[in-house]
This record gives sequence, structure tokens and C-alpha cells, in this order.
Amino acid sequence: MSRSADPRRYDLQQLRARVLSEHGGEVDDSIPQLADADPGLCGIAITLPDGTVRASDEADSLVSIQSAVKPFLFALALEDTGGEAFDLVGIEPTGEAFDALKLETGTGRPPNPMVNAGALLTAALVDGDDAGSRSRRILHGLSAFAARRLETDDDVARSEHALGDRNHALAHLMRAEGTLEVSADDTVEVYARACAVLVDAVALSVMGATLALGGVNPVSGERVVSARVARDVVSVMATCGVYDGSGRWMRAVGVPAKSSVSGAIVLSAPGRLGAAVVSPPLDEQGTSVRGRVASELLSSALGLHAFGAE
Ligand code: GLU
Repeated sequence: MSRSADPRRYDLQQLRARVLSEHGGEVDDSIPQLADADPGLCGIAITLPDGTVRASDEADSLVSIQSAVKPFLFALALEDTGGEAFDLVGIEPTGEAFDALKLETGTGRPPNPMVNAGALLTAALVDGDDAGSRSRRILHGLSAFAARRLETDDDVARSEHALGDRNHALAHLMRAEGTLEVSADDTVEVYARACAVLVDAVALSVMGATLALGGVNPVSGERVVSARVARDVVSVMATCGVYDGSGRWMRAVGVPAKSSVSGAIVLSAPGRLGAAVVSPPLDEQGTSVRGRVASELLSSALGLHAFGAE
């Protein structure tokens, strides 16, 4: 007999109150807009298979999606290339920082789509003749995942593009290796715009649910990607989604997830639900401190751990 709480009744407000007492971590300062984030912000949402969305206070506070976009870029690239993206990007965890200037030895491929090298490449593989049309395709695709029209923060996109020296370096490295066929600057531009799309915990939980539920958005009923693509993306989130903290995350939370420097975390519990936490202070691995604690408590309360109960 399961002692897990019913996700329809689980008290997200109480969960939020519990994690608000966590005061560790630092807000990212790689761009001015992130440095200005409110460290006290905390929003939590879950989306269930029948399309029910449940949310705490501040689950409608917007942040830039940052690296939580990476699973969705990978999904769109797989969909648009008919799976060919798998030949061009690896799927092994790196154990290194998210922006390490490193490609796979021998192949010159990015190690996986959840680190910056891989996400730059998947952004370049999405359908489109130029940077503008690829960015539009991405915004349209992300909106389908969210069942809502999302918008881009142009100031964040400009800062990401202007200050993302390591991303420019990675794009040039991939050009030099012959892995990246389009221009390095266009690639950084498209990736920077993708990172600058605004989401709240509600939108991100619907996006996570769409991947968790075989590619069909439970809110809109729209098939966004194929079941195979959704499964492949969630598999790679499980092994690589929390960068060099992925092993510890899987042990403690047991739910495939993607972290980001804005403090947004998206979770996809296959067949069960999508969830998201948005709270800016980060630990050393770039994972939201409150997001991690909230995810552990949520997983434990709802019995979401992929490998069994405690
Ligand atoms: N915009 C960030 C970068 O590419 C995303 C990193 C992250 O969220 O982990 O540097």
C-alpha cells in the first residue's frame, strides 16, 4: 500500500513556506538582469496528466528560462532533424562545469545537449534559414510546450549575447571541428534568445509535464513532439540535467530535471507529472538551493523517485 500523498491535495503553499526558511546560496551575476533577481522569490507548480495545474504563491513570477530551455531545444532539434541530432551531439554526462570548453575527443561533438556546447548545437539544428527564423521556431515550440504564448526578454538576450564569451568560444570551437555548420555568431544569438524566454513556475511545470507524458501537452491536448523524442529527452535529463551534480540529484530526488542559473528547475516524472520551482539563489553547481530542497520534499511526499520508496 502506498503512503504517498495525493498530488491533487498536496499542500504546495506549505511546501513553499518550508523552503523559504532556506537562506543559502548566491544569485547568479553573469549578466546584470540576473544579478538583480529577488533572492526571496519562490514559486512552485505541478501539472498533472488530466491537465490540472496547481500552484503556490509567486508561481506566476517571471524569470528568464536560461538553461531550463536545454531539454526543449534538444526535443525541437530531434523533432526537426528526424532524430539525426543524435549523430551530432553525445549523450554522456561530463562531470564538468556547464560551460566547459571541451568537446568529445575524436568526434568533436558536444558531450551532451544539457551543457552549453550541446545546447548551442541543438539551437543551430532547429528548423530555420537564419537566426531570426530559428528563434521564431524555438519561441513557437516552447510556447506549445507551455500551452501559452511565451515572450522573450530582449535585454536579457542582448546581455547573454554580449557577455557570453565562453559561448562564443564554444561555437567557434565547434566550427573549427566541423560540428557546427552555421555561423558561430548566429548560433550564440539563437541560444541567447532561447535562454531569455520568460517563464514562471506554472509555464515550466506544464512544459515538464509535456515531456513526462509522452510529448502530449496535458493542458492543450496538443502533441508537441513524438513519444520517442519525449522519452529520449527525459532519459538525457536524468543523466545530465543537473550538470556535475546529476548523480547526487538522481539519488536524492530521483526525478529527471534541468537546473538553470536563473534558479528555475523543471522536473519531468514520467507518467506522473511535471513540476517546476523558481527561486534564484544557487549552490556551487548552479542549482537553486530552495529548488533542490523543494524537489526532494515533493518527490518524497508524492513517491516520485524513479527507483523506489524510501
Ligand atoms: N545563459 C547561461 C549561459 O549559457 C545559461 C547557463 C545556465 O542556466 O546554467 O551561460
